[in-house]
Amino acid sequence: MRRIAILGSTGSIGHSTLKICEAYPDRFAVVTMAAGSNVETAFEQCRRWKPKVMSVAREEDAATLRARLEKAGVGGVKVLHGPAGTVEVSTHPDVDFVVSAIVGVAGLEATYEAVKAGKAIGLANKECLVAAGEMITAEARKQGKPLLPIDSEHNAVHQCMRGGRMEEVTAVWLTASGGSFRNTPKAEFDSITVEQALNHPTWKMGKRITIDSATLMNKGFEVIEACRLFNLPASKVKVIVHPQSTIHSMVEFNDGSILAQLSVTDMRLPILYALTYPERIESDLKFNVLDLKQLDFQAPDLDKFPCLRLAYEAAEAGGAKSIALNAADEVAVAAFLSGEIGFSDIPATISAVLKVTPDVHPESIKKVLECDAEARRAAAEVVAHRRGVEAR
Ligand code: MG
Repeated sequence: MRRIAILGSTGSIGHSTLKICEAYPDRFAVVTMAAGSNVETAFEQCRRWKPKVMSVAREEDAATLRARLEKAGVGGVKVLHGPAGTVEVSTHPDVDFVVSAIVGVAGLEATYEAVKAGKAIGLANKECLVAAGEMITAEARKQGKPLLPIDSEHNAVHQCMRGGRMEEVTAVWLTASGGSFRNTPKAEFDSITVEQALNHPTWKMGKRITIDSATLMNKGFEVIEACRLFNLPASKVKVIVHPQSTIHSMVEFNDGSILAQLSVTDMRLPILYALTYPERIESDLKFNVLDLKQLDFQAPDLDKFPCLRLAYEAAEAGGAKSIALNAADEVAVAAFLSGEIGFSDIPATISAVLKVTPDVHPESIKKVLECDAEARRAAAEVVAHRRGVEAR
């Protein structure tokens, strides 16, 4: 029986994880959960799953949840709040596997503490690896516990890696759908509207990740994730545009063999893989090979998508530069969404922030969060400046 903590239980990865737990009740038990500000769903989850601990973001939400549970006669759930509550959820002595799916730097501390406490981790939070990947992977190696990627590309790479030894790997190929503007001429990028950028052809996702997919920054973050997870230099992590997204990623070995992973595009599969690793178990998530009609590939255009180039630079530098890449992107995307800056200003803003970011390597989560705050401040300044330039 795997005893699980879910960080981000009310989000989409949280929901998929609970579906897996529902389908295999004799294999998985949900022991603790952490949600954000969705008290209604947190309440329903407490009623259904009776976790030992449920943590929510704010103190007032915790009070509301406690009162509702009492009124409904649901006992035995300890309700906590804030970062300390999330850490208690991830390090609870009865937990042996943590699904880390809180979006943003909010999930950093709890994930790092879980690794330090010797838990196995299923990692869906990008910021953990982009901002603090060097620290988290070093600690996991020290603990001898697996860090299992739930991001579909890295999950695919993890599976393919089992076909050879680390020193035999010559390249990792991360596939990318290419975003909404794959075929848009560069000359038109300045006039891309918020509405156009939010209209992703295949996926319905959150606003930030939709914009990050359109700029290819999402793939850039994934390059950094792959470098940290598999301890590879950025030069060995390649991005290839594959519009059908059927191949989730590939690994190339020194003898010239390339292994690829194909499956349905359903996040339950990488979650199931992580939860049952190193075993595989029967599932109904089948992919019909006869449905495979066509597989197209092309190299990404770094001139059109400078975010990807910036990510490679940050991947190589690591430390504060990777932290700044993520922080500046979040600020720039928010500014684009609110109409303050244009689409092409997103990479320009990030580039300006990276230039003023010192090449240092923070050695604690506290220092990581300080670098993050500093980069956000710098990004806000750049945005204000660019807005001023446009107004003139
Ligand atoms: Mg991905």
